[in-house]
Amino acid sequence: MVKTVADQIAHDYAGRQVHMICVLNGALFFAADLMRALPLDCTYSCVQLRSYEGMTSSGRVEEVIPLTTDIRDKDVIVIEDIVDTGTTMHFYKQKLLALAPRSLKVAAMLFKPSQLQYPDAKPDYYGCEIPNKFVIGYGLDMDGLARNLPHIYAVTQSTDE
Ligand code: 5GP
Repeated sequence: MVKTVADQIAHDYAGRQVHMICVLNGALFFAADLMRALPLDCTYSCVQLRSYEGMTSSGRVEEVIPLTTDIRDKDVIVIEDIVDTGTTMHFYKQKLLALAPRSLKVAAMLFKPSQLQYPDAKPDYYGCEIPNKFVIGYGLDMDGLARNLPHIYAVTQSTDE
């Protein structure tokens, strides 16, 4: 997935400098690997957006760590772990566009197309489309745990009560 996204970005931005915005906490591992796979001049900053509680979307988006970098006239790529309903990226893109970047794209590791509620939040680049399953590992958590698993797993609900 890292190579898939890195190759597309390297092709589209050849000869340009990009500013990456890593959305903490989930995109940490993907962003670190993606940026190291990019043969481009690249700067980055990190933000934290909270939009999820437990295993169901709350539909609420909160900016916990805000962007402090000036992105005016920069080619900006937001790196997200997963686009599910698109609520987070829909909200965050509006906020970033108000800061007048030269261009703005979203690169997500995973994309759940069946869940998308905001068409403008469809990632411009993504590693893999997945069905509507809750996934953990490689940055993705379940109530704060499992982010450090080196692989990605789909969580199956236990039928035991
Ligand atoms: P959206 O706003 O697109 O509905 O959700 C985006 C955020 O919800 C993601 O950045 C991620 O933090 C969380 N999320 C969505 N789907 C999953 C999932 O399957 N597993 C985990 N761990 N988080 C998810």
